[in-house]
Amino acid sequence: MDLNIRGRRALVTGADSGIGFATVQLLLAEGATVVMTDHDPDKLTHAVDKLSELDNRPYAFAADVTDPAAIERLAQQVGDEVGDLDILINVAGIHGEGGLFHEISQEGWDHTLDVDLMGPVRVTRAFLPGLRRGGWGRLVFVSSEDAVQPYDDELPYCAAKAGLLSLAKGLSRTYASEGLLVNTVSPAFIATPMTDEMMNERAESLGVTCDEAIASFLREERPFMELGRRGQPEEVAHVIAFLCSDAASFVNGSNYRVDSGSVATI
Ligand code: NAD
Repeated sequence: MDLNIRGRRALVTGADSGIGFATVQLLLAEGATVVMTDHDPDKLTHAVDKLSELDNRPYAFAADVTDPAAIERLAQQVGDEVGDLDILINVAGIHGEGGLFHEISQEGWDHTLDVDLMGPVRVTRAFLPGLRRGGWGRLVFVSSEDAVQPYDDELPYCAAKAGLLSLAKGLSRTYASEGLLVNTVSPAFIATPMTDEMMNERAESLGVTCDEAIASFLREERPFMELGRRGQPEEVAHVIAFLCSDAASFVNGSNYRVDSGSVATI
């Protein structure tokens, strides 16, 4: 399917890894002008280098989504060098401190909410004026299955991701009449560095291999993931790209689950 986004200007946060990087690759292949941003300049440069064979090269600017001044600088740089955005994809996120409620520190709560909820708020506030000027736009927020099916050992993450669903729904009400469509994508257990780290910790604590940790996690913790495997970042990126396209012209205020059935409710 031609997504008809050739020449559209898109910014992806969390762009140097996992779901963000897969999204960048897909948008570049569709001919979009892509701005990659992430917080570690060296990792970002390394990710850009992996795309050096392509004719359609991305822009890349490092910025930490928890740093308001850095986000303002990012918006200024993008405005000066690329122009107003048509597409904004908030992917950056962390799993944050885990444990039961009484085990999680105040710092753990503050940091997780700062990255996972306030990060997208900051980035969206910074780029919204340009998106509104364009009269055609797509905003996608990457939430999680945890938003609607909270796991009690990762509540800061669940709360932040639930906040994103509410934020996106609210934005979809305000700006649809101006041509901006806002949606969320909620993955579950995708094979990225984020879940690699979780599975390495699980393997270590159970004294098993990483593959065994993944198998037991699926069996015991994610029993409704009917495909019985981790998803691939590209499988999420395809849905994000669809939501950024002309093909999604009547999709607004929706949450697309990319979780192979993990959320048990309909
Ligand atoms: P990932 O760790 O590969 O990617 C996360 C990216 O966010 C990294 O590039 C990281 O550098 C960036 N990031 C973290 N803190 C940042 C900060 N302060 N400023 C700027 N960038 C920052 O993991 P992923 O799985 O690709 O995660 C992408 C998104 O998908 C996250 O929002 C995550 O919560 C969500 N998600 C992932 C899964 C999964 O199973 N992997 C499931 C549900 C939701």
